[in-house]
Amino acid sequence: MLKSEKKKIVIIGAGMGGLATAIRLAVAGCSVEVFEKNERTGGKLNLLEKGGFRWDTGPSLVTMPFVYRELFAMAGRKLEDYAKLIPIEPICRYFYPDAQNTIFETSDSISKMTAEIEKLEPHDVAAYFRFMAYSRRLYDLTAEVFLFQGLNALRDLRQLDPRDMFKIDPFRTVHQAVAASFKDPRLVQLFDRYATYNGSSPYLAPATLNIIPYVELGMGGWYVQGGLYALAQAYQKLAEELGVTIHTGLEWAVERIVTNGRQVQAVQLKSGATVAADIIVANTDVAYTYSHLLKEKVNQSRWSKLEPSCSGFVLFLGLNRQYSQLTHHNILFSRDYRREFATIFEDKVPSLDPTIYICWTGKTDPEHAPPGKSNLFVLVNAPYLSDAFDWAKPKAIQTYRNLIVNRMEEFGLTDLNSAIELEYTMTPLDLAQRYNAERGAIYGLSSNNRFSAFLRPPNRAKGVDGLYFVGGSTHPGGGIPLVTLSARIVADLIAEDS
Ligand SMILES: Cc1cc2nc3c(=O)[nH]c(=O)nc-3n(C[C@H](O)[C@H](O)[C@H](O)COP(=O)(O)OP(=O)(O)OC[C@H]3O[C@@H](n4cnc5c(N)ncnc54)[C@H](O)[C@@H]3O)c2cc1C
Repeated sequence: MLKSEKKKIVIIGAGMGGLATAIRLAVAGCSVEVFEKNERTGGKLNLLEKGGFRWDTGPSLVTMPFVYRELFAMAGRKLEDYAKLIPIEPICRYFYPDAQNTIFETSDSISKMTAEIEKLEPHDVAAYFRFMAYSRRLYDLTAEVFLFQGLNALRDLRQLDPRDMFKIDPFRTVHQAVAASFKDPRLVQLFDRYATYNGSSPYLAPATLNIIPYVELGMGGWYVQGGLYALAQAYQKLAEELGVTIHTGLEWAVERIVTNGRQVQAVQLKSGATVAADIIVANTDVAYTYSHLLKEKVNQSRWSKLEPSCSGFVLFLGLNRQYSQLTHHNILFSRDYRREFATIFEDKVPSLDPTIYICWTGKTDPEHAPPGKSNLFVLVNAPYLSDAFDWAKPKAIQTYRNLIVNRMEEFGLTDLNSAIELEYTMTPLDLAQRYNAERGAIYGLSSNNRFSAFLRPPNRAKGVDGLYFVGGSTHPGGGIPLVTLSARIVADLIAEDS
């Protein structure tokens, strides 16, 4: 039990990081109250239900299932009693815009991966084994220091054996390491794509991110029965069983963190009420927290200078038919990957030749669409918000939507446009407004810098005692497993400080 027992903890935001922190602190004996400005918990992991169709609006792929199991186990529960994880096979089907219309399927089965690679380039089978061994080595070298504990740049640099510094491959980019490993350009594009799992560019992010193929292909890709939102519901249910009070809705939005200049004292809500707190955990974006909630601390807005991860443009399509060539997760690759990322991260405008991700949960959960119909979640990486592009300008959304639908038709989804019964869009502007995501970033901060792991804002706020950060914009980063790990780090720091 914490010495902070009986201390009053306020958590701002009921994203996955906020809910996981609430669970941990409640288990530690604290009194925990969560304030969420939206009607539903889950943050970016959310839900849309209309006309018999259902879509998850954020994450679609679950990795590192042991992270969720550990969270429930530390509360004396079994994850399986709250949410059922289902392995997805194939993990993803990739469609290439080449003359052969190549299709490639990834799997956590070594024999299936070997057979697929052999079809493209037999020499790359051995390359795959070498690459996965390297990816696993990266994981073994970095996970303990970078994922499972709070990051203290100097201490952690010292913790690393100088020889390991080279072994974690920070001086090459993801692409340089991948291109040096595989002969077939289609495999290079496929393994480059893993840099986007935390919203980064493979041409800029350090090769250390090549741990991600091991996390997905070595440990497996998972889905949550009923849809990923079931995982948010599982976190919420467990938190409430442990006595956490969760308030949702606009009147509960936190407008200000009240301090006495040094120590947090309370949060002020949109309704005008003030709620006292000994400790505040902000699940809100760090830059937003400093600039909007801690107004007297604007000098700390240096965090807003860090580069956000990419954002996303999403189409939720309800179709009056199904496309048999699609599986649960699908990628329609762009023709020029390098140009695509330069457009997104350098020009900061939407790519005219985008890679298109399609998730069809109805393939696994048929009740997500009426019989014979299908629910497609279509995601394209988009630049974070800047002056370079304005999603609010007339026809911006319609034009980009048309481009994507046309491209999907070119990939063989014939008559897609006329098959659409229902459609909704989510732009970077929506992400910024709905979740107060800094510049609409999906994953918090990008890793487009070899020192990004050390530049992330720390989980313990600087200059304000009693304030902690959890979630994608702090350590260890974005994605549901990492924000869940972030909660563990925050709970440990609070215990340490109490
Ligand atoms: C389209 C999309 C696809 C994604 N795909 C994947 C994927 O496949 N796999 C994966 O692991 N991850 C994926 N992610 C990323 C993942 O969703 C996020 O990294 C993770 O959910 C972020 O959790 P968080 O704890 O940082 O909080 P957030 O989800 O950012 O939640 C923060 C919460 O704070 C609330 N809030 C903000 N301001 C206030 C305020 N003033 N007062 C009260 N409440 C406030 C917000 O409403 C929100 O609910 C995806 C995200 C998106 C958007």
